Amino acid sequence: MHQLSDVRQRLAALGAQPSHAQRVLRLWSNALPQDSGKRALDDFLPRRLREALPGLTADLAALAVLDSRHDADDGSSRLLVKLADGQACESVLLPRGGLCVSSQIGCAVGCRFCMTGREGLIRQIGSAEIVAQVALGRALRPVRKVVFMGMGEPAHNLANVMDAIELLGTAGGIGHKSLVFSTVGDERVFERLPQGPVKPALALSLHTTREDLRAELLPRAPRIAPADLVEAGDRYARATGYPMQVQWTLLEGVNDSDEELAGIERLLRGRYAVLNMIPYNSVPDLPYRRPTWEKAAAIARHLHRRGVLTKLRNSAGQDVEGGCGQLRARAARPVRF
Ligand code: SF4
Repeated sequence: MHQLSDVRQRLAALGAQPSHAQRVLRLWSNALPQDSGKRALDDFLPRRLREALPGLTADLAALAVLDSRHDADDGSSRLLVKLADGQACESVLLPRGGLCVSSQIGCAVGCRFCMTGREGLIRQIGSAEIVAQVALGRALRPVRKVVFMGMGEPAHNLANVMDAIELLGTAGGIGHKSLVFSTVGDERVFERLPQGPVKPALALSLHTTREDLRAELLPRAPRIAPADLVEAGDRYARATGYPMQVQWTLLEGVNDSDEELAGIERLLRGRYAVLNMIPYNSVPDLPYRRPTWEKAAAIARHLHRRGVLTKLRNSAGQDVEGGCGQLRARAARPVRF
């Protein structure tokens, strides 16, 4: 039952009308107790469904179970989440009501600086499993924003991610611009996102303005020129009215040169975009280094002065294995925290 379509089919088989199904999905995705609201579910649902509800609720809860939680000083909290087949993924509770969710176990893009990319794709995460991560996060603290920036490339699991986004943007009660679809850039994303009833905000993982370096750093990302990616993202951002977030993992000596800064200025000045610059979180097994905060701040100031709206950010949970896929990688090797 790891897809939302399975959940809906099970509800329908139990005699649920669309309004009943919507009510059950609303309570689940908001992590609300069944007796919340004006009328408790028991008063509202047909008897067959009412009787089956405890079993269904238990099965939904089993889709994503908290394995371990690692709180950081910045208010974020990294969650290692076990799925029903024993696979593990990561979610991160972010400060100010955000939650970062995973869309795949492993990832086929193979970014050189990412732990998740090292294992390749293991399996897709189902749409119900994505919503279950949100329900789990909401059981721990309020969640008003969901970003698809955890393990995996959402474009490679587009149907499931969009199903989850549709539910979260309706029954899940999350504002459309507070759902953030993050991608390395893929033609299918630019075709699909404008069509849905819930249009999420877009985050584009750019990391470099040089085509050759991008092919090296993101070896299996679609070969689309950075300027074309920015153009497509800008078009979508203007159509939706939410600025595009351009993600830039700052790697010392790799993508922090004057040439890159000039490239950023050329590509992003005048765009409906915010550049999120995130100094790399060093990982012992990988060869990349984190620049000093002072250097990163100087770069952000320089770009800002040149008309590129730039925000310097730390990756959440920096002090507790802040890089993507690191909790899972650690869990795979039995190391104590
Ligand atoms: Fe995949 Fe994102 Fe890691 Fe790249 S950074 S390998 S897209 S999970």
